[in-house]
Amino acid sequence: KMNTNLGQHILKNPGVANAIVEKANLKQSDHVLEVGPGTGNLTVLILRKAKNVTAVEMDPRMAAEVTKRVQGSPEGKRLKVLLGDVMKTELPYFDVCISNTPYQISSPLVFKLLSLPVPPRTAVLMFQREFAMRLFAKPGEKLYSRLSVNVQMWSRVSHVLKVGRANFNPPPQVDSNVVRIEPKNPRPQISYEEWDGLLRIAFVRKNKTLRAGFLGTSAVVELLESNYRLWCAQNDVPIDDGPLDGQSHEPEGMEVDMDKEEEEFKGFSDPDLDEDEMPDFFKQVAKKPRGKGKRRGKVTELVKEKIRKVLEDDTELAEKRTRMCDEGDFLKLLYAFNSEGIHFA
Ligand code: SAM
Repeated sequence: KMNTNLGQHILKNPGVANAIVEKANLKQSDHVLEVGPGTGNLTVLILRKAKNVTAVEMDPRMAAEVTKRVQGSPEGKRLKVLLGDVMKTELPYFDVCISNTPYQISSPLVFKLLSLPVPPRTAVLMFQREFAMRLFAKPGEKLYSRLSVNVQMWSRVSHVLKVGRANFNPPPQVDSNVVRIEPKNPRPQISYEEWDGLLRIAFVRKNKTLRAGFLGTSAVVELLESNYRLWCAQNDVPIDDGPLDGQSHEPEGMEVDMDKEEEEFKGFSDPDLDEDEMPDFFKQVAKKPRGKGKRRGKVTELVKEKIRKVLEDDTELAEKRTRMCDEGDFLKLLYAFNSEGIHFA
């Protein structure tokens, strides 16, 4: 009576469970976070090696089962079960994260771990194979995504173990891999929100050029304009908010393309568009009625010119496609945009 909607596939091979815990290199002083303990097969092994465990479990039956399993034993006192969705739970400090991860939360969980103010020393996580491959993907490869760039930017990621589907009850549709994610220490000295904000725009459609990604849709220009206005206000930079000089009609050329691009966004019709790369602001902006009567002033033109300068002059990356860009390219872009007062968070 497993709930596969919650990704409940219990690990039934004790050899694999042992290997996962072994690969976490636990110390007796460690506080471990376990995501989705289920019936507790990993939990009891972790409790033998670590100081204490916080286990976050969404299914009350499972939470009760893992609690019962260690009740009355000395280990029971070192286990704290939090009932709830790990994505909505405020996490305590922990040294190591171990999880046979419910596949629905693979991506958000990794992003959550990477953005923690004090990241753990190590995370040993089991994922579906294709998801695991995305963590390792390099520029130009099919699975290269915002997730790949982020994981590789903030951590060292290594492969630990292949686990066939027959090791689970019930067996899932696909095989799994265990990976180790070790957040870089010290952390790279850039803002996670700025960095990820830039990647969100670039990866909306990774097969497009950066020029198309940053200048080809008015949704992006609008977002960057409003961030720019905020930055000006915070830094006492005066802005000239007048209408465009001597212009009574919309500027020509680009508008046509922009509207076409937005149509595509509305239908999410692009096969290259990864659903989980879809930034929320696009969902919002796409719904907004637009076009007619919209004010296009000097600030919009100024912001477009800044974006053009960053892409063409400062970084010379305008014609490069997102899927070909590496960490260094994105860093260059971020520094150049920020120097122009353009921010992503
Ligand atoms: N750790 C156990 C094992 O290895 O045998 C069970 C792993 S099972 C793949 C995933 C577990 O995560 C299930 O017990 C499920 O109820 C729980 N779960 C699913 N979504 C969750 C969420 N958002 N937050 C916390 N737990 C969740």
